[in-house]
Amino acid sequence: MLEKNPFSTLAALLTGRSLRSVSQPSILPPSGSPAQPASETDGFAVRMSDVDWRRRLTPDAYRVLRRHGTEQAGSSALNREKRSGQYACAGCGHLLFDARDKFDSRTGWPSFRDALPGGVGTKGDRSHFMNRVEVHCGRCGGHLGHVFEDGPQPTGLRYCTNGVSLAFQPD
Ligand SMILES: [Zn+2]
Repeated sequence: MLEKNPFSTLAALLTGRSLRSVSQPSILPPSGSPAQPASETDGFAVRMSDVDWRRRLTPDAYRVLRRHGTEQAGSSALNREKRSGQYACAGCGHLLFDARDKFDSRTGWPSFRDALPGGVGTKGDRSHFMNRVEVHCGRCGGHLGHVFEDGPQPTGLRYCTNGVSLAFQPD
């Protein structure tokens, strides 16, 4: 992934954007496996039981938003979306990103150089033997992707998202 450990500087950069506490599990779960502990869903304005989320979301959206899954690169039609508008959380409808901040990162995942004010929250993610900063919906806590420091100016950030976690609302 990134050349050097981005976590400490990025975490500092994002402090004030509701950086949440860093969890350091001693046992890493296998890919795609369960379960945010209940504490990870505390404190969000929209909270639902796991059963209700599963009912509300498509299987793919559920796997990403509620189980920290990752969609296959290039699989989302939003990679090619270029219209103006806003991107909302597919889980709760909270506005996350503006199309003006979308750029072609050539990663196969919809990418943004900034988030809307109050749109997203971040926290440290040390899963899969990497130090990354996880990005989630500021209202329901649904997992969106990760943020890296190799984006375009003026922010220098790259919010790398799963398209299945987003709902595009064209102007
Ligand atoms: Zn949400």
